[in-house]
Amino acid sequence: MKVFKFGGASVNSIERIQQAGRILQQYSGEPLVIIISAMGKTTNALEKVTEAFYAGNKEEALELFHVVKNQHINTAKYLLVTQFNECLAQLNDFFTEVEWLLHDKPVRDYAYYYDQVVCAGELLSTAIISHYLTETNIRNKWLDVRDILRTDDNFRDANIDWTYTTAKVNDYLQPLLKDNTFVITQGFIGSTDENESTTLGREGSDYTAAIFANILNAENLSIWKDVEGVMSADPKQFPDAVYLHELSYNEVIEMAYYGAQVIHPKTIKPLQNKNIPLHVKCFLDASLPGTIISSKRVKGLPPIIVLKENTVLMYMRSHDFSFVGEQPISALYKKLGELSIKPNLLQTGAISLQICLDDRSDKIEQLAAAAGDLFDIQLEKGLTLLTIRHYTPELLTAMLTGKEIVLQQQTQETVQVLYR
Ligand code: ASP
Ligand code: MG
Repeated sequence: MKVFKFGGASVNSIERIQQAGRILQQYSGEPLVIIISAMGKTTNALEKVTEAFYAGNKEEALELFHVVKNQHINTAKYLLVTQFNECLAQLNDFFTEVEWLLHDKPVRDYAYYYDQVVCAGELLSTAIISHYLTETNIRNKWLDVRDILRTDDNFRDANIDWTYTTAKVNDYLQPLLKDNTFVITQGFIGSTDENESTTLGREGSDYTAAIFANILNAENLSIWKDVEGVMSADPKQFPDAVYLHELSYNEVIEMAYYGAQVIHPKTIKPLQNKNIPLHVKCFLDASLPGTIISSKRVKGLPPIIVLKENTVLMYMRSHDFSFVGEQPISALYKKLGELSIKPNLLQTGAISLQICLDDRSDKIEQLAAAAGDLFDIQLEKGLTLLTIRHYTPELLTAMLTGKEIVLQQQTQETVQVLYR
């Protein structure tokens, strides 16, 4: 069996949902698990709803939610005829759940409410698409993923309970696939043992798809995107960027680590662990080769470039000239862990230390406050962090001409340069 994932951009209009239907038609009669994201920018819109609600602006929250509601009702209206009423009834259940919550006063953490509201995006999109497939005679079953994907209550970045989820997939999802039907379910969301909704972090649908592929021992996972495949750089920044038709798990995990917006970084491990190939396919033209990511080592890759603008450099120097030894370093790493900060580059010296971070002022302030006991701290914002894998000296020189280099680190495969 196979697992497919359709991202938000692949289901953000009537035409695109119809296109997804045409792609799926070709797999009719095969057991297929289909993971779908929220339509287009729905997740962002629902974030705004949660923010308004949490700020105590109930009316604004309800109004913003009303917009999301209408978008989905309109999509269903244009897409469906015979299935419309049934679909609307299902959508209304999800609307009501959110609206009830919005009428309350917030008494718990923001992250808790975020997950209860934001999870609606995936529930709505999958309900509409499932009814659409039914109407076009594509046999499918809609599944509330929250019934099988169990997580802890680390809201907004929940961790999977693999044991429980595996048991549920085997007892509940496997039998649905037995009569060669499609199972349509949501990416990005799950639920706790108290039936509270959770989310897995932004762009988490790829990860959901990888989890199911792993547990089901899928033949492969296809992620359908509105691009032709994975590229060597962002073509908006680098017009010379090329498509990479084959990549290893290792390469992709490195790319994601350095900040390439390829796929959710957590996606690779569940696939690599079971040697399941990941196919990035172009949703607009299924005949294009896309990118295959597998355990196979790929030689002769072109330079792969990741540019991170708005990088912050935190320069720390010990107060009293004491050595930056194991103790301060381990204390610092502990703090980074507590604040969930991933340093993009770290360089240590005898009495000083430099860390490159994403510009998240809330986290940086907390980190600076915590490190203030040991270090004098200076911040510089607005820097650019360039990472090149498989660089050539010529390319590096060309890219750094006219730049004021702040920090540079390099291994045989990867060079990172922070510049002004
Ligand atoms: N809908 C979620 C988001 O926009 C999850 C996803 O698309 O993967 O982040
Ligand atoms: Mg997405």
